Amino acid sequence: MELNLENKLFLVTAASRGLGYSVAKSLVNENAQVIICSRNEESLQAAVDSLGSDAQYVVADLSKHDDIQSLMSAVKELSPHLDGLFVNAGGPPPGEFSDLSDSEWVEAFNLTLMSAVRLTRECLPLLRKTSTPSILYSTSISVKQPISNLLLSNSLRPAVIGMMRTLADEVGPEGIRINAICPGYIQTERVTQLLSASKDQSFRDSLLSKIPLRRIGEPEEFGAICTFLLSPLASYIHGALLLVDGGLYQGMM
Ligand code: NAD
Repeated sequence: MELNLENKLFLVTAASRGLGYSVAKSLVNENAQVIICSRNEESLQAAVDSLGSDAQYVVADLSKHDDIQSLMSAVKELSPHLDGLFVNAGGPPPGEFSDLSDSEWVEAFNLTLMSAVRLTRECLPLLRKTSTPSILYSTSISVKQPISNLLLSNSLRPAVIGMMRTLADEVGPEGIRINAICPGYIQTERVTQLLSASKDQSFRDSLLSKIPLRRIGEPEEFGAICTFLLSPLASYIHGALLLVDGGLYQGMM
């Protein structure tokens, strides 16, 4: 099956490594072009070096309004249109209710929800200029079931889903497809650190025992699914939320 991504241009955010990088890599493998961003120029340069000539980068901290404005100015200088947007950002810090201050809530709100709002607002006019536009929001299994000690993620990521579902109704009639993807545990640097931080092997064993496929997902598996959802081949998938979790989520719906 053809994904028909040749020469299409995607903005993939927070993509110097991890999930964002896996999506950029998969898109480039399908002959698409990508603009990636993250906060650190050195890591972005390394990522673009390994992605090849179909990738370009812009430095931006997605938690900052002004950085998103400059990111979008740079994107518009590179191209007047976009075929797709993959919305991703770093995770908000862990913590329980009593640990978290107002400023930590506001920072997480800016990083997790407002980055998605601002990127969407800025990208919609560019997406409207193409024939098969789509947006994919990367969230987490935490939108289906809370993860302990991740109060900020559990609270703010569902708001991204609320926006996605509402926006799907608003822009669907224009042919702009909007979906969300919810990773469980995918073997990025972040998850490797998380698992190695727990010196106790029983944490890993207990996690694996809850995943019916009995393994952590590979970034390439995540990248491939996102590339499909962003591609014209997924032309009738709209307003959907897809778990990529090896079966970890146990609910019926
Ligand atoms: P990672 O640490 O491997 O990569 C994060 C990327 O985001 C890096 O490129 C980093 O530079 C960039 N980044 C971080 N903060 C940024 C900011 N403020 N502005 C711009 N770029 C920023 O992490 P990952 O595993 O790829 O996770 C990506 C997102 O997905 C996080 O929000 C994470 O919480 C979430 N998530 C990951 C998993 C998983 O299994 N890996 C599961 C559920 C949710």
